[in-house]
Amino acid sequence: MQSSAFNVRVPLATGDVFLMNTLTDAQLVVSADAAALLDRVEQRNFNVAAAEPDAVEALATFAELGLLVRDRETDRENLERRFETFHEDRSQLRITILTTLQCNFACDYCYQGEHGNSQSAAKMSIETSGQVAAWIAAQLDVVRPPRLSLTFFGGEPLLNVPAMVDLADRSFRAASERGVEQVVSIITNGLLLTPNVVDAMLPFGLTGVKVTLDGDRETHDRMRPARGGQGTFDRIIANIRRVADRVPVAIGGNFDAATAERYPALLDFLKDQDFAGRIAKVAFKPVIKPAAGGSTGTRSLIPLTAVDAGNRPVGSSCMSAAGGGQSSSVCDNCHFVDEQMDMLRAETKRRGFSTVDGVHMGPCELYRRHSHTIGPDGALYACPGFTGDNALAVGHISGQADALRDETAITFEHLAPWRNCGDCSFIPVCGGGCAVASYTELGDMAAPSCHKRAFESALTSLAEEAAGFTTGGVQ
Ligand code: SF4
Ligand code: SF4
Repeated sequence: MQSSAFNVRVPLATGDVFLMNTLTDAQLVVSADAAALLDRVEQRNFNVAAAEPDAVEALATFAELGLLVRDRETDRENLERRFETFHEDRSQLRITILTTLQCNFACDYCYQGEHGNSQSAAKMSIETSGQVAAWIAAQLDVVRPPRLSLTFFGGEPLLNVPAMVDLADRSFRAASERGVEQVVSIITNGLLLTPNVVDAMLPFGLTGVKVTLDGDRETHDRMRPARGGQGTFDRIIANIRRVADRVPVAIGGNFDAATAERYPALLDFLKDQDFAGRIAKVAFKPVIKPAAGGSTGTRSLIPLTAVDAGNRPVGSSCMSAAGGGQSSSVCDNCHFVDEQMDMLRAETKRRGFSTVDGVHMGPCELYRRHSHTIGPDGALYACPGFTGDNALAVGHISGQADALRDETAITFEHLAPWRNCGDCSFIPVCGGGCAVASYTELGDMAAPSCHKRAFESALTSLAEEAAGFTTGGVQ
């Protein structure tokens, strides 16, 4: 027997130890002596038969929870099985639809606003939305999931409400005919969010709206002005207030070194609002700049978060299940951002809002076979972060053969950056990081994009929460 490579531990102020196995998600607080058993079993002269009854019992528990495994080979097999199960999961068919690449904002970090060209960006026609709905219906017949999950995104999806409603309506009917539950969410900048839009979508399974706020009023208005330069904060808040009793609203936000400190003021503001109790989740993610010398040859990607040194976009948005994404970078200021993530998570929790724990972050949607992103023209992408660049499309809803797309699809199908992560204990909850970040920063989507320090710091918080004590850091 040996200790699993996916064990992580955090010493507690009481002298006890928080143990977690990131593969099985087992979490427990044990005495330091019990935790030391995990090291002792590795010693050549350790004899289970001669161990104390308490130690034998503890070892049996560790083995049951996956903290002890037969050998390293077993660990690797379990890991591969875990990713395979995730890859093949049919519990839901997940579709992200970009009904338009147009945007009515001129965000500081987004070239669409800066270049003023988004008005002519692609927009899904009603004809295409009908074709997308037919493609989804065909997928339902192949996958046969109990649930269909649709996410509308952009650009700004509320700039193309007709296509969104038409598609949601058609796919809802297709799902209902097959006994499939449809759930819908919308990720919007909030400027055009109205009760009418919500009411139009509720019959088709709308369960949540995510709105982006980039800090307190002053910061947000500077970072996310309307195309005419006007502030948008007050109007967005007014819109959230008008819909909050109809649908749960999640708040997302992008921060960098200069704006992170403005988030506590935003959290205080939100906490004081009459709709605070209706906020489903608050999660922020960093705007990350690529490493010096890193690839920035992906300018045609939809740029919503990652930007280059000139504040031009190089990356994408992240739609991972946690809602906060895990865009990451190998550059030095990453560590700073990791620390800010920690601070923001703590401040968010302190005000009673639900947020991501920073540990259970992956693997992301990219690795699900039955998760798809569809662009305005019906092109299929591996995840929202790779949309907009035709060379990165993996197919088309028309099913038309295309050698380049087929080749790209195979590349994504075999993507497994975690295989380059050695014996990192966080592989099961990280999966090697965000492939979009790897692609934009390193020019190689197959390379890990590592934020290990962020995981370690989030684990410390998780341990503190589990035990209610201050800890001594991850070991
Ligand atoms: S690759 Fe990155 S952007 Fe795409 S789903 Fe994964 S974490 Fe999100
Ligand atoms: S990217 Fe970093 S944290 Fe993630 S699995 Fe690889 S080495 Fe671990």
